[in-house]
Amino acid sequence: MTRLALIAHDEEKPEIIDLVHAYEDLLATIDLVGTGTTGKRIADETDLTIERKESGPVGGDLMIGAEIAENRLDGVIFLRDPLAAQPHEPDISALLRICDVHDTPLATTRSSAEFLLEGLDRRIDPK
Ligand code: PGA
Repeated sequence: MTRLALIAHDEEKPEIIDLVHAYEDLLATIDLVGTGTTGKRIADETDLTIERKESGPVGGDLMIGAEIAENRLDGVIFLRDPLAAQPHEPDISALLRICDVHDTPLATTRSSAEFLLEGLDRRIDPK
């Protein structure tokens, strides 16, 4: 089954909730994993089921990175706050790097996330 990670910094959490609502039918067919707080908000505010890792600042990004290293993920949507440095910046850099190493598609903005989701949709259901 296709497996996708969803992560958003605090400033971007409303955006990821809006994105998830817009693609809820597709996401219902995908195995979802998220960092702690992002995952909780998605679970609370949508009908989707999502596996929750630790919160990002205490290791959640690294846990998702580990799944990429094991080739368990088909994509990552990570809506980052481009205007504020995060305390766990080294962990974020590690996650971005491991996506590059494994050529795992990574979207860090709303529009690139939409492209990623459209691509996954085409792969799941070629028309
Ligand atoms: P969070 O982590 O979903 O637990 O807030 C996101 C992040 O990496 O900042």
